[in-house]
Parts: sequence; C-alpha cells; structure tokens
Amino acid sequence: MSGSLSPVMVSPIVHRAAEAGVVLEADQWDALARYRDLILEWNRRFNLTAIRDPAGVEERLFLDALRLLPALDAVLSRTASMPPEVARLLDVGTGAGLPGMVLAIARPALAVTLLDATGKKVRFLEHVIADLGLDRVTAVHGRAEDLGHDPAERDTYAVVSARAVSSLPALLELAAPFLTLGGTALFPKSIDLDDELAAGRRAAPLVGMAIDAAAVLPGSTTRLVIATKRAPTPVSYPRRAGLPAHEPLGGRGAVPANRGGSRGGTR
Ligand code: SAH
Repeated sequence: MSGSLSPVMVSPIVHRAAEAGVVLEADQWDALARYRDLILEWNRRFNLTAIRDPAGVEERLFLDALRLLPALDAVLSRTASMPPEVARLLDVGTGAGLPGMVLAIARPALAVTLLDATGKKVRFLEHVIADLGLDRVTAVHGRAEDLGHDPAERDTYAVVSARAVSSLPALLELAAPFLTLGGTALFPKSIDLDDELAAGRRAAPLVGMAIDAAAVLPGSTTRLVIATKRAPTPVSYPRRAGLPAHEPLGGRGAVPANRGGSRGGTR
C-alpha cells in the first residue's frame, strides 16, 4: 500500500509524484485510483492500452502525466491574461486519456478537451467523465486534421499536449492551429530525440511555432518538448488526414511556408 494519503493507491506513486514536485489532495488521488480501476476493467473487454497491471498504470501512465504539471503550471502562470479557470487544454490523440485526463483531475479549474480518432476510446473517456463527475472535461471523437479547421476550436487553446501519437514535425502541425498566439505545446518524448528534434526545428516555423526547450524531466527518461506559437498558423495547416504523419514537414530540404500545403518531404 502507498502512503497514508491514499489507501486505494497500491504503489508508491504518491511519494514518487512528491519527488517530482507534485502534491495532490486526497480526493484527487482517489479519483486517479478510480480512473485506474476503470482503465483495467475496460481493458479486459477491449484494447485500451498495452499496460494491464495496476502498478503499470500508475507509474507508466499516471506518473508520466503528473510529471508534466510543473511545466503546465509554469505555462499557465506566465499567461497572465489566461488564469486557469478560463484556460483551455487540448490533448491530441489522448487514447485512454493520457496525459489529458490526469491533468484534468490534477487541475480541476482547467477546461480540458480530450481528442481521439478511435470511437471506443472516446466512449471510455465519456464513461470516466460521467463516473468522476468531471464537468470541465469534454471527450471528442475525431482527427486533429479535421478539428483543427473548426473555427470554434482553432486558435482557442492555451495549451496542447500529445503523448505517443506521432513524430515531432507531425505533432507541431497538428497542435499549432489549435493554439492561441503565445500558447504552448507540451510533447513528452523519449530520451533519444536528436534526429526528431532537428526535424521538428525545421518544421516549427512553417506552422508558426518555435521549440523553446527539450529537457529531460527530473527522475525520468522523458524529454519534454516545449514549443510556443509565435505567429498565426497558415490556413493550409493542418493538411488533410494522414499527411502530417506520412509526409512530415521539415523533411530533407526545407519546405517554403507558402508551398507547404501539399508537400512535406520525407524523414
Ligand atoms: N496519448 C495516449 C495514447 C497514445 S496511442 C497515451 O499516451 O497512452 C495514439 C492515439 O492517438 C490513438 O488512440 C489514436 O487513435 C490517436 N490518434 C492518432 N492520430 C490521431 C489524429 N490525427 N487525430 C486524433 N487522434 C489521433
């Protein structure tokens, strides 16, 4: 059993989170424990995530997401015109809700949209939202390539996150349209990132973004890429479904911004 804060958490996640500078209230740990149990229960019926044991969910899914909180808090506090209660966060390719659902539980003032292209995952997310009574969280079934052209969604998010969804150039193209000017993208990545980072740096300015940091998170093997929207994203982005991943921007040879709507090059 874990520490006295939460009798329902079965691993030392509470302490490990504290080491990462993350302290939650007891009811938030309880919500995470319930969410963990729902993931494990639904995973028996269909493939929600490859991780199938309680400690794995807590450490490899939840702790990884909780480690983003210091960066998220820094972004929200920097954006003085955007207090947490009006800020919106979009998690692209959220799957079973990672990291977006965990961030929503940890920061209940934040309005969180969880986007995924797979209907059964969105149905699971809707179940979790209802079960936990998360009235500031919305699950959306769709592709970022399509939703990114919706005027109600474009240029409206202070923060966009995405984990284990695509390469950095593709993530930048998918995230940028959703961000407000000055908004921030948070992409947790694995430690071995050099080639992808170089491609990301070439892709970023094409969609109005700049990569600010790609530091290893303390105590982890995650490199957190932090990118900011510096200029409006051209209306041609994101390109149609599949292109951001299959013809990533910033591939060999730079793609001029005014020609970037249809070609990308290879990596
Ligand atoms: N972020 C989660 C899930 C990763 S799996 C985690 O870290 O565990 C990748 C998910 O992204 C899948 O559920 C897939 O349906 C979704 N996805 C991939 N490309 C997408 C796109 N263009 N738009 C929306 N969802 C996408």
